[in-house]
Parts: sequence; structure tokens; C-alpha cells
Amino acid sequence: MPATPWEYSPAPETVPVTVPERTQLYVGGKFVDPHSKKWFDTVNPSTEAVLSHIAEGDAADVDAAVAAARKALKPWSRLPAQERAKYLYRIARRIQERARELAVLETMDGGKPIKESRDVDVPLAAQHFFHHAGWCDKLRYAVPGAGDPRPVGVCAQVIPWNFPLLMAAWKLAPALACGNTVVLKPAETTSLTAMRLAEILQECDLPPGVVNIVTGAGDTGRALVEHEGIDKVAFTGSTEVGKRIAKACAARGTRLTLELGGKSPNIVFADAAIDQAIEGIVQGIWFNQGHVCCAGSRLFVEESVLPEVTRKLEMRMRSLRVGDPLDKNTDIGAINSKGQLQTIERYIAAGADEGCTVCQPGPQALPAKGYWCRPTFMTGVQPSHVVAREEIFGPVLAVMSFRTPEEAIMRANNTPYGLAAGVWTEKGSKVFDVARRLQAGVVWCNTYNQFDATSPFGGFKESGFGREGGMQGLAAYLAE
Ligand code: NAD
Repeated sequence: MPATPWEYSPAPETVPVTVPERTQLYVGGKFVDPHSKKWFDTVNPSTEAVLSHIAEGDAADVDAAVAAARKALKPWSRLPAQERAKYLYRIARRIQERARELAVLETMDGGKPIKESRDVDVPLAAQHFFHHAGWCDKLRYAVPGAGDPRPVGVCAQVIPWNFPLLMAAWKLAPALACGNTVVLKPAETTSLTAMRLAEILQECDLPPGVVNIVTGAGDTGRALVEHEGIDKVAFTGSTEVGKRIAKACAARGTRLTLELGGKSPNIVFADAAIDQAIEGIVQGIWFNQGHVCCAGSRLFVEESVLPEVTRKLEMRMRSLRVGDPLDKNTDIGAINSKGQLQTIERYIAAGADEGCTVCQPGPQALPAKGYWCRPTFMTGVQPSHVVAREEIFGPVLAVMSFRTPEEAIMRANNTPYGLAAGVWTEKGSKVFDVARRLQAGVVWCNTYNQFDATSPFGGFKESGFGREGGMQGLAAYLAE
């Protein structure tokens, strides 16, 4: 049957947001042009239209930003803790006040559904500043026995494109709360909300140099993390780049935390509430188009309920709406970039080549322009298949089965990664037994993808080390 064309319903979020013709860098409290006088395009992935031109920072810009952060370090770290807290509160409030603008911009620049940027990314970004504002004058209780809390110094922070504003907040809030100064580099495809955040920092009168933002691609990031004036590096991104950064930091003895990739298991036992588990599977893999480091991308289902789960999953997928991310009814927005769409398509083809059955239910037509991928799941997957081993970072789920809890745990842990896991069962004792044996930084029980500023997040094995959020996340930003 031919797909029926339909119109998107208008939403208040479609109110136009002004996007600058070109952006600048934020260094020493001022917006400045890059030394290179070069700019590159940032594209709306749902329309392929060029949204703005992003300043290409180079080594000279990084030098200037690190110098500004160094100059600001002493006065900022010596500010009474309650005064530092006031700045963090102000930033949190201003994020709330400009929430709609930030959400629309995030969706236009990154392709994620407005209901996610509006209800998840922006509120959580504000929450991270609120939470850490509260810690400023309580740091001595965060790391007991560490004596007087002292900041590490100048921090280099590099973030990815999947949660641009939220990752900036995860990085900045604890660093500032502990009295550090920062040079932040956003991802090249999603720099707009970071630059809007720079405006907020300026509006909040944050002292010049406390936060500096240098945009650019991998070379800019490398110039930053390898800069001699840096005391600590915090990196969130791919495991491949993380390993390179770890080598560079080891050579210089620079402190480092890494939040890297994942291939997280979502385990459904036969005694689980299956309808709820289906929602958890959907939330686990199709939230943010699967561009989630902790996405539940490997589904393990107890063999006796596998037919029921795949049947119900397929039915549920038919009601997922793929399309205009600015439509408040959209469940699955655009893939972040053309390059990432090609990567995902390569993985889907590789799965089919290896003999997996590729299921992409969903009747509706996809928009003619933009980067789109239907929610996908694959059955007939073996642990040795590439789609079961490698991080795809897209809306693609590999479905496998198991017979006993032992087998589920063994298969779930059979990965170089260890970021997160989900366990679905009605039995509390099973939750406890399975969860404690899973090699994952976070284990969600009868839920998935729950984030909170009070809760530490981070990985095992090749998913990285160090924690972000909660009391544990502060340790990385305090001198030993
Ligand atoms: P990426 O590693 O390609 O890029 C991440 C950031 O690093 C970008 O800002 C990029 O410009 C910069 N960069 C690239 N090369 C660099 C270099 N040599 N030195 C310094 N910086 C460099 O990753 P990506 O494709 O943007 O993001 C997707 C990856 O991020 C996935 O693997 C995902 O799992 C991971 N991720 C992890 C977490 C977590 O908390 N563990 C959260 C979000 C994303």
C-alpha cells in the first residue's frame, strides 16, 4: 500500500529562533573572531539547510583561551564558595528562562525531537547547574579526608554531538563548583547551543576567562587536550579518540577522565512485565535516534518469550513517528549528520550480509530532504556478528536470546564496553543478583535511560573511567 502523505501539526516550539550568520569564539569573557578567519557550515540535519557558519579555532585560539583560563584561575578559586554558588544558580535560572530558545536551537542544529530537547536536554542541563551550585560550599564532605578542597586548575573539556548543551552542562557545572577554570570545545556539528550558553555566561557576569569556548573540529580538540597549560582533560566521545587522548595525557602526566562508547545490554527475563519491557526497549534504543552512548543496543530476551517480545516490539514500532524534529509528536528525528547516516547504513548492510533479518516496520513516508533512518531491529544475530559487537550509534537494535541467567550475564558482559545495562524481571532477588554481576557503570532495573544530576554516570573497560554527576563526579575536579 502506498504511504499516505500527512501534514505535521504546528507546535509553539516552531516559533522561529534567530540564528547568527556566523558564530565567534568566547575567550576571556569576549566574543572574538578566530585567528584563522575561517568558518565552516553547520547544517540542519532535517532539512540539509546551512544554519550558520561556525568559527574554526586553531592552536593560536587555544593558546589565548588557555591563557585566559589560567589568568582567571586564582581569583575564581579564591572566591568565597557561596559567591561561586551564586553564579551557578544564576546560570541555571537563565537556562530555564531561555529554555524554549535553547530547545528549538538544539533540535534545529542536532536533529533530535523537540519533545526530547524540551523535556530532557534543557531541564537536565539546568538541573546540573542547580545541583552543583549546592555543592560549592560543601566540597569538604564530597571527598572525606582530602583536607581543604582545592581545584585541579585549568581544565580542557571536549564534548560530542549527541547531547550538546547537556554535555556542556555535565562538564562545566562540577568544574566550576570546585573552583576550576575551563576551555570547552563543542562538537563540530553542534556548536550553536554552546555559543548560546556563552551568551548566558556573559549575561550572568561570570568573571572573564572562567569559561572559554573554542569551536572547531578534531584538530582544534587535539590542540586543546595536548596543550601544555592544561592541568586536566575531561573527554566525552568515541573510544578510538579517547585512547589517543589517554596516550597523550599519560606522556605528560595530565589528569584525565574519559566517557567513551558503549554497546549496552538490555536483558528481558520471561517473568518481566512484557508490555512495560517493550516501552523500556523503545526508550533504550530509539531515544535520540540511538545517538546515546548508553543506548540499550543489544537486546537479550529469554528464549521462551522471544516470539512475544519481537511481535509486540514490531507492533509498537509501527506507531513511532519518524520525521520533522520540530513537530512535538515526532518520536524519532533526523540522524545528526550525513556521515553518521552513512555509518549506520553500512552497519545495517553488514548485518544483512552476515545473515541477520533486518526489520524496519513503520508505514509512513520519510521526508524528501534530510538524513533519516527508520527504527530498525535485527533478529538472527550471533554474538560474533559485527552488529552485536560494534557501537553503531544509531537507531539499530540487535536482538539475541538466552536460556538461563548465567548465560544472560555471560553474553551481556561479552563486550569490550561497560557503560550501562537494563534488567527486566518481576523478581527483586534476580534484579540484585544479575545487576551486581554485570560489568556496567549504571544498571537500570525495570526502566532505562534515566538520568539525574545526583546520580554518578560513567563506564568500565573501554567505556572509560571517572564519573560525572553526583558526589562522585566532584572528585575528578578536586586536587588530591
Ligand atoms: P568523536 O570522538 O569523534 O568526537 C568527540 C569530540 O572529540 C568532538 O568534539 C571532536 O571534535 C573531538 N575530537 C575528535 N578528534 C579529536 C582528537 N584527536 N583530540 C581531541 N578531540 C578530538 O565522537 P563523536 O562521534 O562526536 O561522538 C560519538 C561518541 O561519543 C560515541 O562513541 C559515544 O558512545 C560517545 N559518547 C559517550 C558518552 C559517555 O558519557 N560515555 C556520552 C556521549 C557520547
